[in-house]
Amino acid sequence: MPDPRRAIPRTDALLAEPGIAKAAAELGRDLVKSVVQDVQRAARAGELAPADVAATVLARLPGSASSLRPVLNATGVVVHTNLGRAPLSAAALDALVAAGGATDVEFDLATGDRARRGRSALSALAAAVPDAGAVHVVNNNAAALLLCALAMAPGREIVVSRGELVEIGDGFRIPDLLASTGSRLREVGTTNRTTAADYAAALGPDTGFVLKVHPSNYRVTGFTAEASLEELAQLGVPVVADIGSGLLAPHPLLPGEPDAATALRAGAAVVTASGDKLLGGPQAGLIFGEKDVVERLRRHPAARALRVDKLTLAALEATLRGPLPPVRAALEASVEDLRRRAETLAESLREFGAEAVASTAAVGGGGAPGVELPSAAVSLPARFAVALRTGEPPVVGRVVRDRCLLDLRTVRPDEDAKLREAVRRCG
Ligand SMILES: *Cc1c(COP(=O)(O)O)cnc(C)c1O
Repeated sequence: MPDPRRAIPRTDALLAEPGIAKAAAELGRDLVKSVVQDVQRAARAGELAPADVAATVLARLPGSASSLRPVLNATGVVVHTNLGRAPLSAAALDALVAAGGATDVEFDLATGDRARRGRSALSALAAAVPDAGAVHVVNNNAAALLLCALAMAPGREIVVSRGELVEIGDGFRIPDLLASTGSRLREVGTTNRTTAADYAAALGPDTGFVLKVHPSNYRVTGFTAEASLEELAQLGVPVVADIGSGLLAPHPLLPGEPDAATALRAGAAVVTASGDKLLGGPQAGLIFGEKDVVERLRRHPAARALRVDKLTLAALEATLRGPLPPVRAALEASVEDLRRRAETLAESLREFGAEAVASTAAVGGGGAPGVELPSAAVSLPARFAVALRTGEPPVVGRVVRDRCLLDLRTVRPDEDAKLREAVRRCG
């Protein structure tokens, strides 16, 4: 009997098959070759017939050269850190693609001269916050704080309340980040109460700046006191306000959430924020402030190590100038609309035990702790949770009291059909 394994097509022959060759050109030869070899191994182990090898390779080829998978966020957490924070708007995605090639990010096409890097994104940011004398963009909010420490308090003290020594997540802490620059942290007040007098008593010739950090992922309630930015701005030293979430102006649905315009008007010398939280844009550190201070940050040697790429600049500008990004649409969606969508979906999924239920969504690690957003969800038997999460596309919901809830506040209306099909495949 001839060994059936000898009928398994050879690697070169498979890579020469038109469909596979096309994929190798698009995805990269090494990636496609590794799929070919996996399938050959499976055939040698007798898991599939030699005649099916080519078709199996084609079926197993990934859609893109990156293994990051697009996920449907049905958690009801609007800014979900583990799902990549803000999903970009269609306008921002288009801008990313357009900027991916050679682009005039640092070049003036009219004169043929070098131009200021990212000037159009910076002017969009400046236009969005007219109270800022100048703006700058770095890699993320942590980088913005690092740059403030390096440029404004080298070897000197940063005065901060004990109630605002924040752990951002994944074990990273703002006090450690600042201390890593060689600046010294001067802690004032207590966990629950810090007054303007506490700050005033700590100021001296060694003070670099006063730092006010927004508690964006926790709340201190009860017997509390904190100094306002207005009070701190009168102490005669620069105040850096880390507002966290990246709201540029007050938002009516999030009355407790600080914003850049208000912080600047209150007298902050510098305001720092994230680009990929409530602003709904790409990961970035946004810096707003007095012109000379921002200029000092921009010209500091470390600024080069913290700078953003052309893709970030493109996506940021499109987020600022374009239509409402998904984060804001999710935040502002009316609960009636969400309820209608939940009912329509549940109706078409009745056979799987689906029901439309009221739910409570949250802003997430990106800001507004404690704010509950009324929402609506499709409720399914709990067994759907794992099947949906491991399906294609993966759908991440949340399990509450033996039910798998798919919260529609974080699902775009144009994703409802995809969600319905995903549930059907798991049924
Ligand atoms: C999220 C957050 C940070 C960290 O921002 P990144 O953009 O993730 O670096 C810092 N400070 C506050 C108050 C935050 O909410």
